[in-house]
Amino acid sequence: MSDDPRLLPESLRDDFPILHQNVHEGRPLVFLDSAASAHRPRQVIDAIVECYSHNYANVHRGIHTLSERATDAYEQAREKLRAFLNAEHADEIVFTGGTTAAINTVARAWGDANVSRGDEILLTPMEHHSNLVPWFQLAERTGATIKHVPLTDDGRLDVDRMGEVLTDRTRLCALASVSNTLGTINPVKTIARLAHEAGAVVLVDAAQSAPHMHTDVQDLGVDFLALSGHKMCGPSGVGVLYGRRELLAAMPPFMGGGSMINRVYLDRFTPADPPARFEAGTPPIAGAIALGAAVDYLQSIGVDAIHRHEEALIDYAWERLQEVPGIRLLGPAPKFRAGLVSFVMERPHPHDIAQLLDFDGVAVRAGHHCTQPLHDLLGITASTRASFYLYNRPEEIDALVGSLQKIGDRFKPSGRKRKRKQ
Ligand code: PMP
Repeated sequence: MSDDPRLLPESLRDDFPILHQNVHEGRPLVFLDSAASAHRPRQVIDAIVECYSHNYANVHRGIHTLSERATDAYEQAREKLRAFLNAEHADEIVFTGGTTAAINTVARAWGDANVSRGDEILLTPMEHHSNLVPWFQLAERTGATIKHVPLTDDGRLDVDRMGEVLTDRTRLCALASVSNTLGTINPVKTIARLAHEAGAVVLVDAAQSAPHMHTDVQDLGVDFLALSGHKMCGPSGVGVLYGRRELLAAMPPFMGGGSMINRVYLDRFTPADPPARFEAGTPPIAGAIALGAAVDYLQSIGVDAIHRHEEALIDYAWERLQEVPGIRLLGPAPKFRAGLVSFVMERPHPHDIAQLLDFDGVAVRAGHHCTQPLHDLLGITASTRASFYLYNRPEEIDALVGSLQKIGDRFKPSGRKRKRKQ
């Protein structure tokens, strides 16, 4: 497997200082939790140090050297994100606190102005809570109805049944491009086309896709897209809302404060143009600059190359995980999925599995991964998730499988116990 030509060079790991450590008395760290939050390469850490050491001041305010430098770097970062997403204009890129903040901004600023009683909001059952709850809140405020795109048995969106749920009352279709639990890669372009034909606006939660595969908002034909810096080698506390220029221009501001105004009077204000209109207060300055550095880093490797690497890893993980007795892998076959896999075992509980894996140095996620409705549909309360990124190696999948096999053996029902039960 290590000679799979799709794999990136192992030397990339040298860029990530945090990966080179032992946990639990000399166990080498095997980090398989990048879907929750990925790690940063030295290049991004250096950009943060450089910013705070030499070029930091508040942006868009001070008429002095440091403020001008920080403002230039901040706006350059916006341009890097524009190019990364192939947005047409830099003013379509709004820096936010992350995916959650980006989606909430749309739910408030666009939603309150465009959704009313009897309108429909189309979601999918595999959404992260941050692409559900803001829409539930919008529905509560407006009297709109929530609907869902049906799933196939193997955990994909049933695009053939879109006609059953799209109506002339559908105002918005909001979906993840990659499910953070099932790993499914959703056909965003097709869904966007169908939703647009029905007159709806399309929002994509790209938290799990933007770090791993090429994203072109114009080619996808989406109206809004949200991502988080911390899942794509950037810092936490910063993310992006992409919004089509005409839509952003027509949206009222969501948060009020400094920077988002054009003019403030004693009793009223006029808002600034986008993107400033949606960047109230001091923005995540160093975070945005370092996110720009993360984009540089990902592009120096090539996002397509990263995707191929992860395809190789998921193919291998899918095959090897089947060797674990009693395991149930959630979601579709590798050709429909990104580089993550969630699973349950007959025993023990996912939390115990994660704890025992950790004793072997293997870091995974356990719980509902902020997808409780999906877990309800699957008939489980929790699962364990292993997720891969550009720095992971096939040997780490071997370590995961080896440790799971030990856990399986340890929790195998013994003959005596089984007899007693009968
Ligand atoms: N959507 C998806 C699909 C995610 O995986 C996550 C993070 N787990 C989020 C949204 C929320 O991202 P953040 O916490 O960075 O706002």
